[in-house]
Amino acid sequence: MGHDCSFLSALELDGEVSFEAAARESHAADWVAAEAGLGVTPDAVVWPASTADVSAVLSAADERGVPVTPYAAGTSIEGNAVPLFEGVSMDMTRMDEVLEVRPADLQMDVEPGVMGDVVEETAADHGLFFPPMPSSSNLSTIGGMIVNDAAGQRTVRYGEVADWVLGLEVVLADGTVVETGSRAVKTSSGYNLTDVVVGSEGTLGVVTRATLELAGRPEQIRGGRAVFASMDDAAEAVADVVRSGVDVAKLELVDPLAAEMADDHLDTGLPDGATIFVEFHANHGVDEEIAFFETVLDAHDAETFEIAGDDRMEEIWRARDELAFAVQGYDPDLEPRHPGDVTVPISRYPDIVRHAKDLADEHDLLLPCFGHAGDGNVHYAALIDPDDPDAEARAEAVYDGIVERAIEWGGTATGEHGIGMGKRRFLELEHGADGVEAMRALKLALDPNDTLNPGKIFPETADGGRVDRPER
Ligand SMILES: Cc1cc2nc3c(=O)[nH]c(=O)nc-3n(C[C@H](O)[C@H](O)[C@H](O)COP(=O)(O)OP(=O)(O)OC[C@H]3O[C@@H](n4cnc5c(N)ncnc54)[C@H](O)[C@@H]3O)c2cc1C
Repeated sequence: MGHDCSFLSALELDGEVSFEAAARESHAADWVAAEAGLGVTPDAVVWPASTADVSAVLSAADERGVPVTPYAAGTSIEGNAVPLFEGVSMDMTRMDEVLEVRPADLQMDVEPGVMGDVVEETAADHGLFFPPMPSSSNLSTIGGMIVNDAAGQRTVRYGEVADWVLGLEVVLADGTVVETGSRAVKTSSGYNLTDVVVGSEGTLGVVTRATLELAGRPEQIRGGRAVFASMDDAAEAVADVVRSGVDVAKLELVDPLAAEMADDHLDTGLPDGATIFVEFHANHGVDEEIAFFETVLDAHDAETFEIAGDDRMEEIWRARDELAFAVQGYDPDLEPRHPGDVTVPISRYPDIVRHAKDLADEHDLLLPCFGHAGDGNVHYAALIDPDDPDAEARAEAVYDGIVERAIEWGGTATGEHGIGMGKRRFLELEHGADGVEAMRALKLALDPNDTLNPGKIFPETADGGRVDRPER
């Protein structure tokens, strides 16, 4: 054990504390960290049941120099929720109440451990929905989505999670409870602390309550897919759809390799060509919008296009929706490594996809590419043979080459998964040394002892260190 956490037993908590090996070990892994050999086992796990619990644990841990790493459903892709310095894993999944729905204001108050699909179902009971919901809605919590600033298939039309959070209750590292934002849809009042915490990956505070904004469900929803002769045609069509202002609610691209994997997984006879998946939301005039979309498809020689509503639409979209599982299960001898989510200005979208595929060819790796293309976001993972001695290094070279080029073209290393451990080495390239130093100053102002989720985000932590103090 790294830290003496016996102080937890003396706290009068509504929630639970465990020092059992099974509980501790299950918090040493997330979706990818265990396979990649990242992270360590915490000394204790706490399941707080209230804001008071979170505050009591944080203030006691902070006084003793014991790290606390918030943990929710553990579906992060960059090791975001996995401890690196032992201490306490603070599991937020038992704070899982929907506190209030205010349909007249299109708002919902939730505790952070509410699962995404519960948010969806609760909103749907009132004819509403939470537009930026990520594809992992049934696997992950709203707290994890907020703190990773997740995004989803509908982001092309509605924006990311940050755009739909009105206010938060946050417990700082020393146990202070802070309220951010308001129930108004806009505010210019002081610093925007809500947006500081959104995307902070558990390094600035623990979210204990959130006020979400919701939207009314559109009357008309249609979904479809178009298949193209080449990846270039499909990627150019995506960029053109966005530039033309076609009102799409989802716009996803799947490359021929990923389409083949989806077909293997679903066995539905999908064509293995480059495919665009699209969805339209409207209260009136959806057919006109679809006709407009088809004119753009024609300009890029789409080979087929089909569009439908209801059950058939879901069937069409399954190939995209289950792609993450299709890639994982494609070949038992190959393991997906270094999943990426770079995002670029839309004019660079065809170039970044081409660059990713060229790099994969050059390094002799399978690299299925897919993702939220309408936002300029591409997902990929290199499939490697673990017995091949230099496959890991080749996969890393491909990953680095894609991220570096995305940043060079004015994009970002991560559109939605966060920095976590996997992208610390790119932070300075993207934000400059002074930008990173300003982030450090913010981190240490709110968490001077580096108690919360130490070892994440900052480049110096990639060598196993803690966040550096700014020089000035
Ligand atoms: C199959 C699959 C599909 C995915 N699809 C998408 C997608 O479409 N879009 C997308 O953006 N992401 C996607 N992801 C990534 C992931 O699901 C999201 O980042 C999700 O929001 C993480 O939520 P979680 O509950 O699993 O949080 P965790 O992974 O447990 O934690 C996330 C981060 O938040 C911190 N944290 C958790 N709760 C709190 C809290 N209450 N207060 C402060 N910090 C906290 C943790 O320390 C960690 O840094 C996908 C992942 C998988 C496995």
